[in-house]
Amino acid sequence: MINKECEIVKDLIPNYMENEVSSSTKDFIEEHIKKCNDCKNLIEELKKDKIKEKNNEKIEETLKIDYLKKYNEKIKLLKTTAILITLVILFIWIYIFAKNLYIKNHYEYTHNIISTVYERTKDLKEKNFSVVTTYSDGSKIEFYYKDGKYKECYIDDDGISGYINYGVEKEDGISYVLQFQKNGDKILGIGSPMRISSSGGELMETSPLRKVFFLNDFYKMGKRESLSLEIRENKYNEKECIVVRYKINNSEYEEMWIDKEEMLVMKDINNELDNIWQCNYTWQVGNVTDEDVSIKNQKIDQVETQQDEMYDEVLDLLQN
Ligand SMILES: [Zn+2]
Repeated sequence: MINKECEIVKDLIPNYMENEVSSSTKDFIEEHIKKCNDCKNLIEELKKDKIKEKNNEKIEETLKIDYLKKYNEKIKLLKTTAILITLVILFIWIYIFAKNLYIKNHYEYTHNIISTVYERTKDLKEKNFSVVTTYSDGSKIEFYYKDGKYKECYIDDDGISGYINYGVEKEDGISYVLQFQKNGDKILGIGSPMRISSSGGELMETSPLRKVFFLNDFYKMGKRESLSLEIRENKYNEKECIVVRYKINNSEYEEMWIDKEEMLVMKDINNELDNIWQCNYTWQVGNVTDEDVSIKNQKIDQVETQQDEMYDEVLDLLQN
């Protein structure tokens, strides 16, 4: 009898474990295990197994969740890193782009100002002109230009102080200067106008800013180098000016003040090694005669130097 019941109970146990039996079947099974240790033990075993299984499932679940969490965190970190790298690259790219654009605009802007000043000065040549440069100590340089010939005199309170330069521009655009001693009877040197100094035939380089303005040497100044030019606006003698500052280094600079209306250089400031000098330019158009620029009447007794093969040709050009 017990064995027969055991058979039935064993068949029912799986459903009983899952609570899928009617209450009467449940009662029947529970009545049976009160008197049958075999079945009771079997159920106990199965219950234990089930708990174990559940625990394993739980552990597995926890592991799975842990893994997913870590995976998600990893993905999140990767995403954040990718976004950061993209932002950094984008920022660098925008910075480089903006800087290059700024350099290009600055170069074009300064180039435009300087070229305009140069062209304006060139236009004056067609009408003939003079310009007087007055230094802060009162000394002056008078410059006369007519038909490709020019004269430059150094003047102080006592009259002509240093040298007189006579220059001629040749067809190829190159210009030559003969330098005469104060009294005008001795030729001291011959050379290019920007290299021949007031110190007697000695060749000297001119400043970068002067080169840029008077020789339109701007092409030698690269886009990046043009950053050493600062542009601002200011007033001088009640005239609106564009001021171009050339930064030599942190404390030294050179400035050209340009009359905004005339586009001619009005003032020149040079601050080098705590030594500041300044000069003003006074321009006059249409006032120069042939006599002002010719050496026809110049007495030449003595030639001290013939450092250039161009000497005879230049002398000839200047005498006619
Ligand atoms: Zn049994």
